[in-house]
Amino acid sequence: MAKAICISCGNHKEEPWRKCEQCGYDPSEDEDAMLRSVYLSSARFEEAGDKRRYELELDQVACMIARGEMLPFDDAELNRLRIEKRAVDAVPSRRVWCALARLFIPAMMLLGLLWLIWLTLRSLRH
Ligand SMILES: [Zn+2]
Repeated sequence: MAKAICISCGNHKEEPWRKCEQCGYDPSEDEDAMLRSVYLSSARFEEAGDKRRYELELDQVACMIARGEMLPFDDAELNRLRIEKRAVDAVPSRRVWCALARLFIPAMMLLGLLWLIWLTLRSLRH
């Protein structure tokens, strides 16, 4: 049973975003290729039962790709995966900005305070 398959040659992979060891196809460069790769993996299912059922189906899909047949991608499912991927992509960057803000705001306030002290001292000297 396959957990994921290469969308280019049908070779089995452990994870959909990995580069194919057989043909060298790397889906990580292109969002559409990535979505199709996730589509052709059990990673898009939450339930263990659904995962197992789709892994059996993937073996047949792998044979179709190897024979050069066109794959029936469901547009609605591809769209669902696209929305899910964008939600996932958005979370880490928001966290990074929050972490940067937490780091820089106190530093900026400290610099502002030092600047005020420096201004005060300078005006006292004259
Ligand atoms: Zn491949």
